[in-house]
Amino acid sequence: MIKNSFIFIIFGFILTSIIANAQDSLYFRQTIAKLSSAEFCGRGYAYKGDSIAAAFIADEFKNLGLHKWTPDYYQSFTINMNVFEGDALVYFGEKYSKVQLFENTQIMAYSCPMHGSFTVKEVKAKDIFNNKVNLSDNKNKGFILIDISRLNTKDSISKQIYNKVLETVTKNLLHAKGYILVSEKLLGWPVAYGRIKAEHVTVNVTKEYLKKKPKQIFLNLHSRHIENYQTQNVCGYIKGTEYPDSFFVFIAHYDHLGQFGKDYIFYGANDNASGTAFIMDLARHFSKAENQPKYSIAFLAVSCEEIGLEGSKYYVSNSLFPLSQIKTAINFDMVGTGENGITVVCGQVFPDEYNKLKSLNDEHHFLKEVKDRECSNNSDHYPFYSKGVQAFFIYGMGKSGRYHHKSDTLENMSLGGYTGLFQLITNYINLYNTK
Ligand SMILES: [Zn+2]
Repeated sequence: MIKNSFIFIIFGFILTSIIANAQDSLYFRQTIAKLSSAEFCGRGYAYKGDSIAAAFIADEFKNLGLHKWTPDYYQSFTINMNVFEGDALVYFGEKYSKVQLFENTQIMAYSCPMHGSFTVKEVKAKDIFNNKVNLSDNKNKGFILIDISRLNTKDSISKQIYNKVLETVTKNLLHAKGYILVSEKLLGWPVAYGRIKAEHVTVNVTKEYLKKKPKQIFLNLHSRHIENYQTQNVCGYIKGTEYPDSFFVFIAHYDHLGQFGKDYIFYGANDNASGTAFIMDLARHFSKAENQPKYSIAFLAVSCEEIGLEGSKYYVSNSLFPLSQIKTAINFDMVGTGENGITVVCGQVFPDEYNKLKSLNDEHHFLKEVKDRECSNNSDHYPFYSKGVQAFFIYGMGKSGRYHHKSDTLENMSLGGYTGLFQLITNYINLYNTK
């Protein structure tokens, strides 16, 4: 009898905690699903994806009863940005099948609108490097094809040639209509290039797809360069019961690479719907009456990370309360995995605080591993760190879709460290609540 009821109690306890965890991860999962859905247009600037996301986050902050510094939780600022909102077609003559965007062909983010057929002339990368190209007869008429697929960027001369070609193409130093860059694999797609106002187009295509050099290229490309596009950080806070002027800060960038043309969406579930949903989940937890923190907690969902940390840079230059009042700032970027543990960037720079996280995990085994790293300039903690704030950046290790690719979806992501990370962070804040 006793044994059975004991088992029943244990079972009941386990069941309750499973339900509680399922409930928690449900909010996390649902919020990621929403943020990474097609209606948010990849949370970039085409179709105002960033604004759709910001409105959703601000609405949720309001529902949770977060305090605000501005009437709508927005901290607005402007950027210049090139967006692709219509057709984005490219053909290399009839014998080629339709290109697959971001699989075998991509159009660089600065590219201007262009319609029609253009001749293609090949120029050797080496000749560009040696300033041997004279195209005065070809000025502004056609496209220049440059094959960079053999430039092994590991050796220093190749690297120099590669860099010179990239500079020539980006700045259109040969005054062409556009460029076709043939590479082994597609180059990265820096959305930061969209900040450049260009008057040419660059098409990057894989060697495997473009086996023969084409004589013509056909384009139907709609793009639009917007000056002073208004975007926004979304900022709210919970007032500490004992030390309202002292803040913990949770940061996550909600922007992603956006949508390219009508069809291609970068969903960005791990990067960084996950971090955004995570800080919203923390806001949900700490805004409950029973979890009121002694110190204030600020929640900063920032924009423009993908174009060079612009949202967090803007924030630290225009902080809504003195940065000197921040005890610790933690940036969550790509926390949709975590079954293999987490890495704490800047952990090596602030060992005392890092060891609090590490010891909590050693004691409770929330996550498989908590690793530290030096400080690096790769996410939104960095502008805070460079202003003297004790700031960390946490990312998860585990299974997700491809980085900066449309396969970065909720379905492809494990969510394997969610519960552990949530417990680690809430327990970390509770260290200060019980003092
Ligand atoms: Zn990213």
